[in-house]
Amino acid sequence: MKQFQILYKEDGGFLDNLKEIKQWRASHSAYVTIFRIYSEDMNLEHIQHICDCLDNEMPDALYLGCTTNANIMNGVLSDVKIILTCTIFEYETTQARILQFPFLEENAVQDVLELKKCCDENPWVQAVEMYATIMDMSMMEFCNEMSSLREDIQVFGGGAFNPDMDDDTAAVFSKGNGFLGRGIVFLLLGGTDFHTYSTFISGWKPLKRRFRVTKADREILYELDGKPALDVYRRFLNIDRNDRFFSNTLEFPLFLEHEGIDILRCPLAANDDDSLVMSSDIQEDAFVRLAYGDPETILASIREDGQKIADFCPEVIQAFSCAARRAFWGDENISDETVLFNSVAPTMGFYTHGEFLRIKGDMLNFNVTLVIVAMREGDMPKGGRKANISGVQIDNNEKIPIIRRFVSFIEASTAELEEMNMKLALSSVTDGLTRLYNRAEIERRIRSALDKRKNQETGNGISLIMLDIDNFKKVNDIYGHKEGDHVIQALSDVLRNAATEVHSCFLGRWGGEEFMVLLSDSNADTAVVLAEKIRLEFSSLSYETAGCQTVSIGVTQAKDETADALYTRVDKALYMAKAAGKNQVIRLD
Ligand code: GH3
Ligand code: MG
Ligand code: MG
Repeated sequence: MKQFQILYKEDGGFLDNLKEIKQWRASHSAYVTIFRIYSEDMNLEHIQHICDCLDNEMPDALYLGCTTNANIMNGVLSDVKIILTCTIFEYETTQARILQFPFLEENAVQDVLELKKCCDENPWVQAVEMYATIMDMSMMEFCNEMSSLREDIQVFGGGAFNPDMDDDTAAVFSKGNGFLGRGIVFLLLGGTDFHTYSTFISGWKPLKRRFRVTKADREILYELDGKPALDVYRRFLNIDRNDRFFSNTLEFPLFLEHEGIDILRCPLAANDDDSLVMSSDIQEDAFVRLAYGDPETILASIREDGQKIADFCPEVIQAFSCAARRAFWGDENISDETVLFNSVAPTMGFYTHGEFLRIKGDMLNFNVTLVIVAMREGDMPKGGRKANISGVQIDNNEKIPIIRRFVSFIEASTAELEEMNMKLALSSVTDGLTRLYNRAEIERRIRSALDKRKNQETGNGISLIMLDIDNFKKVNDIYGHKEGDHVIQALSDVLRNAATEVHSCFLGRWGGEEFMVLLSDSNADTAVVLAEKIRLEFSSLSYETAGCQTVSIGVTQAKDETADALYTRVDKALYMAKAAGKNQVIRLD
């Protein structure tokens, strides 16, 4: 396979290019010749002129192409509006065929059936390259039908597009078939000596904040977290419904969590009711997150997948990349993504907003993705891989687009907020001085234990231990409030230590120097043993100025009663312990 790369600037140079190709063909074994034409020049007369030149100069050569958002030549974003490649197959066995159809939602499936028929009639077909006008069109049925193509056929390609992301004018064209503003062109490739390998790179990462899809129907996303879906873009990204909605949201697609896999979905348009038209279906009850490009993840995947491509020893590489990636990196940096591939083999392609790749039989319509296709004729050269690119460092830290700075800012802020939320959630249930549960939380847990017991009769019972430090007022009065705090903290440490000995044990600060221990799966016998242990341990401690202190304890087991009745009894047990001389445990059944 020999490939010529052509930057079309003016006729003279182009005719020279064709002459060079003809000379090469005359002196080599050259069979099928295919030109691919990618144009961000939307003036079809200009493209027609090039097609006419090809028809005249090389009537046996096939050609096909489409309009694009921008072109990739020799692995980098090209500033030339029309580019061509001429691929010459050097094996007689390699075959190619072009099919072109009008492409609308209502005839998409019919087009695939025609393609299928052609593939069935031509068993040599191994790969289908496709360019299609896809703006404002659901690709679901098309993709479903494509998935039923013969299993070993690889499919890849991109949407015909426009340099203006908000203009849906586009065209596909091919030899003998003219131009179609709503069309699809397939290039069928194959033969015993033809080999191809395809892969995709995303590198987009979800922001942490999740939204639940509360209302959706097919590709219409009505509500997220019970609010109109557009609200998320409006609130978080200041993107509203207007002429530039699509280009504004393109960089921030949604990650859809789908059976454990994250899939990118782009909002194409916002409806009057603030619902969003998505690039593909979204299911109700799924979770979505806003996604953004992460440079490190992207470059890591490029190094990894780049090596796999290099190991395949391709002769040519095609790249179908998303305009969103270009917007993310900026024109100065975007080529970092693709230039590595050119060190393996001549790499060309274009920017679009819908990339196609068949993976394990499934035809997928991607967004924000880079699809890479490697092609080769003949066996791998002896000695295997040609290039080692996985170790190549990509230095792109110099001119970081502002968006990437903001992404770091958002992630850092989100992480901080999440941490604060966690702390808040924790502080709403715990007591600051002792870090035990606060009164509200321990009460909630007691009530919940009583409720659960109603539902299931098994278990050892529910017991409460209530504690009150003896003569605590004196500690405060004589040794000061601070020393009093130390004594309270010492008792909470004793409780924490004791709690490790019994399962289902919850500790709460009931008030001042009063504590409540819930044993949600222990009877009063167990509770009394634990209470004795706590009493002894606490009384054995000695404080710097306050010396030794004691605690009185009441214990009881829950009957079929309300929480209030239970509190009254355990409080009474505690009162009895105080009345009986303090520093003791009293059980009341
Ligand atoms: P008794 O043996 O009958 O329980 O006597 P007592 O002095 O412990 O009884 P009382 O309930 O009258 O005293 C409790 C004291 O605990 C009153 C209050 O000032 C003090 N107190 C409450 N919360 C705190 C606290 O967070 N830190 C400190 N240092 N003292 C507290
Ligand atoms: Mg008290
Ligand atoms: Mg007290």
